Amino acid sequence: MYSKLKSRWADNEGDVALDAQRKREKEDRKRAKAEKHRQADEAAAAAAAQAAAAVEERKQQEQSHQELASRPSKRRKLSPGPAANRQDIAKETVPAKLLRFPGGQWKKCRSVEDYEKLNDIEEGAYGWVSRAKDTTTGKVVALKRLKMDNATDGVPVTGLREIQTLMYCSHPNIVALQEVVVGEDVSKIENIFLVLDFLEHDLKTLLEDMNEPFLTSEIKTLLLQLTSGVSYLHTNWILHRDLKSSNLLLNNRGVLKIADFGMARYFGDPPPKMTQLVVTLWYRAPELLLGAEKYGTAVDMWSIGCIFGELLTREPLLQGKNEVDELSKIFELCGIPTEVSWPGFKRLPNARSLRLPKNPISQGAVIRAKFPLLTTAGSALLVSMLELNPAKRPNAQEFLEHAFFKEDPKPKSTAMFPTFPSKAGQEKRRKRVTPNAPVRGKVPELKATDFSGIFSGREDEEKGGGFSLKLI
Ligand code: ADP
Repeated sequence: MYSKLKSRWADNEGDVALDAQRKREKEDRKRAKAEKHRQADEAAAAAAAQAAAAVEERKQQEQSHQELASRPSKRRKLSPGPAANRQDIAKETVPAKLLRFPGGQWKKCRSVEDYEKLNDIEEGAYGWVSRAKDTTTGKVVALKRLKMDNATDGVPVTGLREIQTLMYCSHPNIVALQEVVVGEDVSKIENIFLVLDFLEHDLKTLLEDMNEPFLTSEIKTLLLQLTSGVSYLHTNWILHRDLKSSNLLLNNRGVLKIADFGMARYFGDPPPKMTQLVVTLWYRAPELLLGAEKYGTAVDMWSIGCIFGELLTREPLLQGKNEVDELSKIFELCGIPTEVSWPGFKRLPNARSLRLPKNPISQGAVIRAKFPLLTTAGSALLVSMLELNPAKRPNAQEFLEHAFFKEDPKPKSTAMFPTFPSKAGQEKRRKRVTPNAPVRGKVPELKATDFSGIFSGREDEEKGGGFSLKLI
C-alpha cells in the first residue's frame, strides 16, 4: 500500500501513465496471490495426505515385517536430477498436481530412538537442533527437529524445501543430510528430524567468542569455501535466500559448510516472481527491501558481502532495527542510488515513496574508509559485493576468481586452520540476538519513512512534509 500523498516522482503525464500501469499490475498481483493461496491449500492438503499415508504405512509395516523385507534397500531420491527443467519447478503459477506415491516402494524411516541425545545446541526460527550419537555406529550427528507452524496443515513448506534441497545437494561446503528419522509417536507429524553432519561451530558464535579476529588469510579461506558452496547452488538453480553467519558451520578441520535451507528455492531464467520476504534483515539486499518481485542470485551475493564485512570486524555490518532503518544504514554505507548508477530503481514498489538527497555520496568511499586495512583489491571486492544495483554485483564465479584471493597473504590451507573450543559440543548456548529470517505470511509494515533525515546537512531543500512507505 502506498501513501495517499503525492510522490515527488509522480508529477508528470508519464508518471500518471506509470501509476495506471502500476494499478493494473497490482490487480494482476492480487489475482496471482489468490491463485497462489489456492495452490498452497492444495499443496498443504497433498502434504497432509502424504503424511497420513506415511503414518498408515508405518502402522502396517509394524504389523507385517514380511512386507518390509520385500522393499528395496535404498531410499528413492525424489528431488530433480541436474537435467530436470528447474523452471517448471520454479513456476509458482502452474496449478499444483496432487502427487501420488505408489505404496510398497518406500523404505521405512529409522526412529529417532536410534540416536542418543548428547546435548542441545540451539533452538532456531524453524527448528531445534541437538547433538546426538547414532547408537549403532557411534557416529556423532546433529539432529534438527522440524518445527510445525500449524500441525493441521501438514509439513510446513520451509521443512519440505530444506529436505528437498539437502537431498539433492552434494558439495563439500554444504551440510550433508544423512537421513530423515521420525519420533516413536508416529501420530504426531511434528516428530520429524533431519540427521545432519555435526560441525563444531557456527561462525556467528565463533566470531563472538574469539579473542582475536580471523587473519586475512583465514578470512580468504572462509570466503572461498562459502562462495564455492553458493556457486554450486546457483549453478544448480538454487537460491539460498538466508545466508548469514549463524547459518555457516565450521568444523575443527577448517571446513565451512552452508546450513539452514528453509528459505531455499529453485529459480529460473528469467527469474519467476518470488516473495521479497526472505533473508534475515541484516543480510537483506536493497532490491528486496525496495520490494522487487523478480530477483536472482545477486541477493545471495549481497549477503556474502555482508558476511565479508562481518568477518573483518566481528560484528554484523548493517544492523538495521527494521526495514526502513536497514535501508537507511545501507544508503549511509554504500551511497545513494541514482538513475545512472541503478537504472529503473525508482520503479521498484517501495522506491517511489522514498525521498533521497540530491547530491549522493560517492559509492565506495565510506566502505573504503570503514575498512582502512583492506588492500586495494580487497576493498574493490567488498565495494562490488555491496553494489546497490544487483546487476553490478559479481556472480559467485567472478568472486572466486578475484585478484584479492591471488595476492598475499594467500588463503590459508584448511589443514593449517586454528581450532577452537566447541560450544555446540559441550553445553547449551545462550539465545541468539540476530534477527530471524522473515516468518512466512507475516508482512511487516513500514511507516513514516524519511531518508533525508539521516543525511543531515546534505539535503536542506528536501526538509518538511511526510509520507509513508509500506512493504506490499
Ligand atoms: P533454524 O532453521 O531453526 O534457524 P538452523 O539450521 O539455522 O536452524 O540451525 C540453528 C543453529 O543450530 C545453527 O546456528 C547452529 O548453531 C546449529 N546447527 C545447525 N546445524 C548444525 C550442524 N549440522 N552441526 C552443528 N550445529 C548445527
